[in-house]
Amino acid sequence: MTAPVPIDDVTIVGAGPAGAVAALVLARHGARVRLLDRARFPRPKLCGDTLNPGALALLDALVDTVPLRTRGLALSGMRLSGPGGARVEGRYPDGVAGLAVLRRDLDQWLVAQAVTAGATFDDGVLVRGPIMRDDAVAGVVVATPAGDRAHPSRLVLAADGRMSVLARACGLVTTPRRPRRWALGTYLDAVAGVDPGLGEMHVRPGGYLGIAPVPGGATNVCLVVPRTRAAAAVVDPWAAIRAAVAGDPHLAPRFADARPVARPVVLGPMALDATAAGAAGLLLAGDAAGFVDPMTGDGLRFAIAGGRLAADVAADVLAGRCRASEAPAVLARRRHALFAGKWRFNRGVRALVDGAPLVRAAAWAARAWPGAFEALVRYAGDVPRAA
Ligand SMILES: Cc1cc2nc3c(=O)[nH]c(=O)nc-3n(C[C@H](O)[C@H](O)[C@H](O)COP(=O)(O)OP(=O)(O)OC[C@H]3O[C@@H](n4cnc5c(N)ncnc54)[C@H](O)[C@@H]3O)c2cc1C
Repeated sequence: MTAPVPIDDVTIVGAGPAGAVAALVLARHGARVRLLDRARFPRPKLCGDTLNPGALALLDALVDTVPLRTRGLALSGMRLSGPGGARVEGRYPDGVAGLAVLRRDLDQWLVAQAVTAGATFDDGVLVRGPIMRDDAVAGVVVATPAGDRAHPSRLVLAADGRMSVLARACGLVTTPRRPRRWALGTYLDAVAGVDPGLGEMHVRPGGYLGIAPVPGGATNVCLVVPRTRAAAAVVDPWAAIRAAVAGDPHLAPRFADARPVARPVVLGPMALDATAAGAAGLLLAGDAAGFVDPMTGDGLRFAIAGGRLAADVAADVLAGRCRASEAPAVLARRRHALFAGKWRFNRGVRALVDGAPLVRAAAWAARAWPGAFEALVRYAGDVPRAA
């Protein structure tokens, strides 16, 4: 007689940074953990491709990041511009840097760290939704060529991004009315004046343009536009980028010879509010637990820290230190303690973009008080306190 196959302790849906970090941490706790992703890895992901210093420090605390750093470009600060020609540059403190690295490489590398720690990774597996038993999540339903199949698990961690099927099925997230912004991203060559050591953010009324150098010589360009400009961006993203810089005395000349080297990707509306950090049997991490705005470039730090927090709470449940029914509230408290200040900051920044005079005033104020701007760049970059 063959022994029954043991069910997984934790099934993690989504192998982006939140899911991979959670899998790594849980595997180190000794849990039987399975990481599922609908995509075949390595896979690309629309992102500005920059890990801020705080995100990098979190990874340093978990794994040896030297191999990752060799695939990226060290970033020593940020350039910011506003309408009307205001421009400032802020540097991180000495010895502190972020990293520009393709998400394809970062995410693949993080998954490999989780597998080395003992997690099982199944890619190309689409999760359709949760299995519910006695009002609790007891696993997930996966699509197979032979039809849907139940995949039971003691706990489920949803790290399946902004469009999370699990968070939506359990009624845990809502799309806020405002702001409704769309993002489009691509890689260009021949963007003039890109400093290989600096990220850039160019804020204009209603939207913004992020520029980051990436390994290999191309430039990552992400444009965020309001709903009124989203339809045109979906139809012709490259034309939308050209339109965004046209007539701008600072940006237009830099894009004069630029050409796309990758197919642009468009997504939106971006913002997502979470009403809880999970439900019985389910914990949320990363964008699935809410997304404010990519302008501050810290989504990866929230994903890495949030994946770790969710994994620690799941480990407490598995070890009997916390009841499964109480786990979402425990996770919500820990997330609030760690993230609330930065969420407030990000919401403030998000509101700023809506008002052209405010953007102009902020850009000029930053030029007048460079010390204050450096402090802002440090805070936005989650620079560790000791640095
Ligand atoms: C335009 C833009 C630029 C950005 N730039 C930056 C930046 O420069 N720096 C930064 O720190 N942050 C940036 N962010 C934010 C950052 O990309 C996200 O916060 C981060 O990717 C969140 O990671 P995650 O692991 O939660 O989700 P994701 O990285 O989205 O991973 C989710 C995974 O779940 C999988 N999945 C989804 N649904 C299913 C399903 N049903 N079944 C199985 N698998 C599923 C997906 O295939 C995916 O691999 C940016 C975001 C945008 C939109």
